[in-house]
Amino acid sequence: DLTLSVSDLSVRYDSGTSSRLALDRVSLEIGAGEILGIVGESGSGKSTLTSAITGLLPANGQVVGGCIRLQGRDLGALDPDELRSVRGSQVAVVFQDPTTSLNPRLPVGAQLEQVLDAHGAARGADRTSLLASRLAEVGLADPERALTRYPHEFSGGMRQRVMIAMALLLEPALVIADEATSALDLTLEAQILELLLRLRDERGTSLMFISHDLGVVSQLCDRVAVMYAGRVIEETSGTAVLASP
Ligand code: ADP
Ligand code: ADP
Repeated sequence: DLTLSVSDLSVRYDSGTSSRLALDRVSLEIGAGEILGIVGESGSGKSTLTSAITGLLPANGQVVGGCIRLQGRDLGALDPDELRSVRGSQVAVVFQDPTTSLNPRLPVGAQLEQVLDAHGAARGADRTSLLASRLAEVGLADPERALTRYPHEFSGGMRQRVMIAMALLLEPALVIADEATSALDLTLEAQILELLLRLRDERGTSLMFISHDLGVVSQLCDRVAVMYAGRVIEETSGTAVLASP
């Protein structure tokens, strides 16, 4: 019952006359309810891995080898429509930067509705209570009122919670957190990490946690994959990563 299995994945970017292998036979697995940390210096391939899993590689990027399975389904075998439905409903990404996921011009409730619409969820009066309960779940006080607010009306930590609620809306099996807590102060970060752990425990959501912060990674993650120059050069338990250079 693997949520994610990446085997021998290679991704190449072509830029004019040159091309570079950004991922070189990367393999990793995440079981149900497991938290895998991904660490590695800038340029080691972390974003490329995220984009490949979500099917959103830049136009000049291409999977040139290997395979990605999400809950047993080979993503390489899906057509664009199927891939769109998998994205969001089975895998969701929480970014560091709210502008990547939140539209500043729309109230939060309307944005959550758009996610439901995009995935064909039925309309109905119970939508508001569903959305409010999702915001309550991530710790927003007065969730009904929060639905009517614009992103800038929330503090940084609250906005991060809204983004997590959005990512979790369709109950994806896998959440990818891409430096999701890096911009928060320590107290807020601790609260968000606690929230992610609780959601894992209550829902069995699997988590791929990308971070440059080894302390946070060791505290949160069951296992950690260390990336360097497009490869996974080491896999350790969460606590052991602190001991590595
Ligand atoms: P990280 O997320 O760990 O910083 P990336 O996945 O962004 O690493 O980048 C991996 C490598 O691929 C780097 O050498 C980067 O410069 C290169 N790269 C990333 N995106 C592109 C692109 N669209 N075109 C060409 N090279 C790219
Ligand atoms: P990160 O380190 O967070 O991955 P980058 O600054 O490496 O961010 O990349 C930002 C954007 O630039 C991404 O869309 C990536 O695909 C693109 N990019 C990164 N490196 C290159 C490169 N060498 N050539 C072209 N595009 C690149």
